Amino acid sequence: MRLYGSIEAGGTWMKCAIGDENASIIDSVVIPVTKKDETIEKMLEYFEDKDITALGIACFGPLDLNPDSETYGYITKTPKIGWENVNIKGIFEDKLKVPVVLDTDVNGALLGEVMHGAGKGYKDVVYITIGTGIGAGIYSGGNLVHGMLHPEAGHIILKSARGDHYKGKCPFHKYCFEGLASGPAIEDRWGQKGETLSDKEEVWEIESEYIAQALVNYIMILSPKKIILGGGVMNQEVLWPLIREKTLEMINGYIDTKELRDIDNYIVPASLGGNQGLVGGLELAKTAIV
Ligand code: ADP
Ligand code: ZN
Repeated sequence: MRLYGSIEAGGTWMKCAIGDENASIIDSVVIPVTKKDETIEKMLEYFEDKDITALGIACFGPLDLNPDSETYGYITKTPKIGWENVNIKGIFEDKLKVPVVLDTDVNGALLGEVMHGAGKGYKDVVYITIGTGIGAGIYSGGNLVHGMLHPEAGHIILKSARGDHYKGKCPFHKYCFEGLASGPAIEDRWGQKGETLSDKEEVWEIESEYIAQALVNYIMILSPKKIILGGGVMNQEVLWPLIREKTLEMINGYIDTKELRDIDNYIVPASLGGNQGLVGGLELAKTAIV
């Protein structure tokens, strides 16, 4: 039996796992992110004696995923201290002597959901995580979309919701989806974390308005057959019916499909219990062996 390795690389935690050919996780560890070298050393240690055939890394970005580029496989311009210009693919390839397949954290999570979760059987799926940041992975015609870099669909520009005077948190765009609707944006706007604001109706009216705006844009451009939402903010149950309702309201009958008529099964939660990134990493690793 072949074993594969997977890393879900985040700003706070590095999750590492070993899995089998069915992308079932056999073993996993969570390594807290400290200094870059120390963190990478611990990850290498974990994989060293595991006899993996290939490694998949679902990593925070931006990443250079262009095989023709000199910095292919690098984390590029991240604000995360010490992690800028790190050859994440190269380091693991050199030390572990196995092929490494790198993709964005959201593409990894998306692939996990497409192969084993809520997106199974679909060729056109969008996966959006709404947490500390907002990111989206896009599966189109059965392929993960990369394009010139990779989609940064958390940074699409939105229009201010009615009654919202918040200035936006993204240092690059202010009025982008992440700047207006990420967990930190909620906290900044209301002075409290989203977790503690469940009973404040106006918080979720505004939040769902932004999420619905973004979903309508994705629907109009990508025509996905399934939209999967994950991330900490989506634990706020009250958001789900509001998002579905506002999405239909904004589409305003312009398109009418069986998917939209069954909106509860169209806009759905992530289904792999937080393991979508690791499962996706295993699937990425499997693509190295054909
Ligand atoms: P990360 O994006 O860092 O991987 P999460 O996806 O868990 O982590 O997102 C963390 C963010 O989600 C925080 O900003 C937190 O305040 C917010 N969050 C967590 N739970 C809830 C909740 N029940 N309601 C609203 N916001 C929440
Ligand atoms: Zn932005």
